[in-house]
Amino acid sequence: MHATDRSRELFGRALDVLVEGGSSPSRGPANYGDYPLFMTGASGSRIRDEDGNEYIDWMMAYGCLPLGHADPRVAEAVANAASSGAHLATATEVEVEVAERIRDLVPGVEKVRFANTGTESMMAVLRLVRGYTGRPKIVKFEGHYHGWHDEVLANCHPKPPGALGHRRSPITIPESSGLVRGALDDTIVVPWNDLDAVDRALRSNPGRVAAVVTEGIMANMGVIPPESGYLPALRRLTREHDVLLVLDETVTGFRIGPGGCQERYGVGADLVSFGKGLGAGLPVAAFGGRAGIMEALAWGGVLHYGTQNGSRIGLHAALANLRALSDDGSAAVRGAWDTGEALAAGLQEALDDAGVPGVVQGVGPMLQVMFTEAGRISDYRDFCGHVDGERYRRFALALFGRGVYTTPSAALHWMASAAHAPEDVERTVEAAREVLEDGAFAA
Ligand code: PMP
Repeated sequence: MHATDRSRELFGRALDVLVEGGSSPSRGPANYGDYPLFMTGASGSRIRDEDGNEYIDWMMAYGCLPLGHADPRVAEAVANAASSGAHLATATEVEVEVAERIRDLVPGVEKVRFANTGTESMMAVLRLVRGYTGRPKIVKFEGHYHGWHDEVLANCHPKPPGALGHRRSPITIPESSGLVRGALDDTIVVPWNDLDAVDRALRSNPGRVAAVVTEGIMANMGVIPPESGYLPALRRLTREHDVLLVLDETVTGFRIGPGGCQERYGVGADLVSFGKGLGAGLPVAAFGGRAGIMEALAWGGVLHYGTQNGSRIGLHAALANLRALSDDGSAAVRGAWDTGEALAAGLQEALDDAGVPGVVQGVGPMLQVMFTEAGRISDYRDFCGHVDGERYRRFALALFGRGVYTTPSAALHWMASAAHAPEDVERTVEAAREVLEDGAFAA
C-alpha cells in the first residue's frame, strides 16, 4: 500500500504559509491534484518521499540533472566550493574554465556570459539582440517557452484549439495578468516546423525583426522534434533576411549531446542560451555566441548585471558536470540516450498491448507519453487539439503508487539520466503496463 500521509500533512502546513503550498504553480495542485509528494532526498535514479517511499525518478528536477541525483563528482565539487567560499562575486578562474569548456563543446560559441536561470539568460539575450541590431521585434514560436518574463510569455501553454486563431496569423495570447502594457507588441508568434510561416513574418516586417527565437526540440509541449532539415533551413532563411537566430537550449543543452542541438542538428545559431542541465542542480545559466554580438554587452552597451552571476559554488558544480558529461567520448550522454530510447520503446509497447491509443515521442533522453488518437503530434496546434492531458495526468499519478515518479503535466516530459539503469526501465514499463491494463484507467 502506497501511504503518503506525511506529504498530505505537510501540504496542509504549507498552504498556510506558501501560495499553493510551494514556490511554482507547476509543483502544486494544478498538476498534482490533492497534494504533491514532499521529497526528502535523492541519489542516482531514485528519489525518496517523507513517508519513506522510494521512486524511480524520470523528472530529474525538470531536466537539471543529466548525471542523475547527487552524482559524487558534482557533490564533491559543491562541498569543496561551499567550504571555501560559496560565492565571491569577483573574478575567478573557475568562471574562465567553465566558459572555455562551453566554448569548446558548443559550435559557434566564441564568448560566454553567466546568469542564474534560463529565464534570466533569455531576458539578457533578447535585450542583446535588440541592442545589437537596433530593431524592436522578435519572432517566437507557438508552444515554445523561454521563461516567465513578459515579452515571450505568450502561447506557451496548451489552449482550446478554437482560441488560437488562424494558422497564418495566430492570436498572440498572453499567459499572465500583470504584464507590462505593450510587452507583447513586438512579439510575433508563428507556428513551428513551418518555414513559410517564418518567411511570411519576416517579409511583413522588413528591417524590424532583431531575431527569431527557437527551442531546438520543442520541450514544453511534450516532446516534438524538429522536422528533418528544419533548423538548418531556418538558419538559411534568417540569414537571407539578415535576422539573428537565437537557440534556446535551456532544456537540450549538454543533454541531447555535449554540444546540444547546435551540434546534433547543425543549427549555426548566432546566440545560444543554457540553463537547467548546466549547473547539475545548482542555478547556473549561460548564454554565448559570436564574439562580435556578445561584445555589445561590454560596458556602456547592452546592460546585463547580476550579483549572483557566476556563483563560485555553481560554477564548480557546472565544471564537474561538464567534465563528467564529455569525458570518455561522452559515454554518460550516450548512456542516457540508450536508456531514453529503451524506455520510449517499452512504453509504446505497453500502450499498444493495452490497446490504449497513444504515442511516445522523444529524442534520446527526452520523451513524453501522449494520449491521442491522432498518431504523431507535430506541432502546438496538434497538441492542443489532440492530446488528452487529463488522461496523462491520471496515468502519471497512478505510477506514483507503483514506485515511479514523473511529471504529471502532459506538456512537460520524462528525462533519462546517465544514472538510470536497464532495471529502472524494466520496472517502469512493468508499472506502466499495470496502470494501462487496469480497468479503472481505461474507464
Ligand atoms: N527556456 C526553456 C526552453 C525552458 O524549458 C525553460 C524552463 N522550463 C526556460 C527557458 C526557463 O528556465 P528557468 O525555469 O530556469 O527560468
